[in-house]
Amino acid sequence: MVDKAAFENSFGFVLVKSDKERYVVKCQDKRCEWKLRAAKVLNTRFCFSIRTHHKMHTCSRASQSTVKKRKGTPDLVACLLHGDYPGSMETPNPGTIQKLVQTRFGVKISYSTALRGKNRHAYDLRGDPGESYKKLYCYLHMLEKVNEGTKTSVKLDEAGKFMYLFIALGATIEGFQCMRKVITVDATHLKNGYRGVLVFASAQDPNRHNYPLAFGVLDSENNDSWNWFFELLKSVIPDSSELVFMTDRNESLINAVAYVYPRAHHGYCVWHLSQNVKDHAFNVNKGVVSFYFREMSRHYTVAAFEAAYSSFEARFPSAAAYLVKTTNNRKETWARVHFPGVRYNLDTSNCVESLNSTFRPARRYALIPMLDAIIAQISKWFNEHRKEAAAGSEAHKLVPLVENLMHDMWKEAEKLHATELNSFELLYDVVAKKSDGTADPESKNYSVDLIRKSCSCRVFDFEKIPCVHALAAFMEFNTSNVDSSRYPMQLIELVSHYYLIEVWQLAYWRTIFLVPHESEWKVPEDVKAKKIIPLQPIPKKGRKRTKRLFGPGEYRRPRTANKRRKRQGIVWGA
Ligand SMILES: [Zn+2]
Ligand SMILES: [Zn+2]
Repeated sequence: MVDKAAFENSFGFVLVKSDKERYVVKCQDKRCEWKLRAAKVLNTRFCFSIRTHHKMHTCSRASQSTVKKRKGTPDLVACLLHGDYPGSMETPNPGTIQKLVQTRFGVKISYSTALRGKNRHAYDLRGDPGESYKKLYCYLHMLEKVNEGTKTSVKLDEAGKFMYLFIALGATIEGFQCMRKVITVDATHLKNGYRGVLVFASAQDPNRHNYPLAFGVLDSENNDSWNWFFELLKSVIPDSSELVFMTDRNESLINAVAYVYPRAHHGYCVWHLSQNVKDHAFNVNKGVVSFYFREMSRHYTVAAFEAAYSSFEARFPSAAAYLVKTTNNRKETWARVHFPGVRYNLDTSNCVESLNSTFRPARRYALIPMLDAIIAQISKWFNEHRKEAAAGSEAHKLVPLVENLMHDMWKEAEKLHATELNSFELLYDVVAKKSDGTADPESKNYSVDLIRKSCSCRVFDFEKIPCVHALAAFMEFNTSNVDSSRYPMQLIELVSHYYLIEVWQLAYWRTIFLVPHESEWKVPEDVKAKKIIPLQPIPKKGRKRTKRLFGPGEYRRPRTANKRRKRQGIVWGA
């Protein structure tokens, strides 16, 4: 701090004494009376109080300017960043810090000094990584205590060294009963100086929000680590044929799901697969290939899918050949129409991406601050979505997303003409309406079964939300039965119960509590006695990468600004 002040006011000082007890500095001019004396406060580790401070310099300003300027240090940079970015891991890049120090203190510092100062700032914030491992058992004990039903587990190797960590919060496990049984699993690398991956198993709530079920830290993605993670996941979410896992195509991950959850269904993330497939197409626009592939995977009827598939094969033979090879010709792993499980309307690639970006800064913290950050974020989401679920009007029975969809489709459904085929089995034939309101025999017809919740367009069957044809049949039922003894049908009878607001609210009824400050911890002696040998940090050279490394076939979008500059130039021969 004295350092920073000295630079700001550009005077030099001499350190008289600095040890664990005292810190005394004087002005560099011996005759000057400026002096600062600080001493340690009793019974504290780092707390100093200023005992003596002669505020006025008695030396002359002129004599100061001849003195050689002190050099900027990483500590100075860290001190500046502490002041300007309190509690924030996101600090400017070293080049900007160089300029900042230059204007603020009038000192030139090198790029590496700026970078080291930036790293020191982050290190001070995120805590000592080694300490985190020592306190881990006590932390997990407190987490389980404040959040009932929480399951945590730590795996050590034979030497007692930390290997894996698993946490599933009680509130989210309980809430999963109200969720569609589709779980995405994803791993990203940690940036805290130790190798390892942060793993999330996450569901999606009916209004398309992330709903993390469990998370953990593994040493890397391998058979042992994934098996360990899924065994623990299975202890809170049992195997069932209703379960669907959506993941990328990491081989260990695929094996672990198949081994631990034999009854569950497993599909691949279509977005990741599309990035790989497009790389195997040649002499064509790769963006078109990936788009075409994703569209193809979304078809609802076998006929439409087969037509799209054969035209895909014809247009991009090399990409199609790769697709067959890489998936062992198992179309059910990526095509919705062939998928054996119930995936509803989930588009899984987006939610994994947003989870990754949400926790990007946290992945640089030491273990416990990272866990704190993750739990705080989940708790925040719970609070927000709890409010959101309670905010809707009384009339609305469906979550806003589906309610809006129904609203939009209603207008379209009114343009259709439904004919009752069987009044007991509620079978309908739906065609387009002519302008005079009668059925148009020329248009394509769809058959709707309101009891089995099915339509020949198959959207109703897959998404568990009525398609536009089912809506038309529903209107026909209610208008034709106005005077009869039959009760009118409610729209919510046709929608999966997972989309009901009251079910949505249940998923968020429990509060997620944060782990209290360390001074409040009450931990039994046997937990305290458990020892973990912390991992050794892995020394790394150069700048730290903070963004996710892209897998094969993924590219960062090129900067648009550069493109534009290029276009402004003269194009010869155009
Ligand atoms: Zn002085
Ligand atoms: Zn339909």
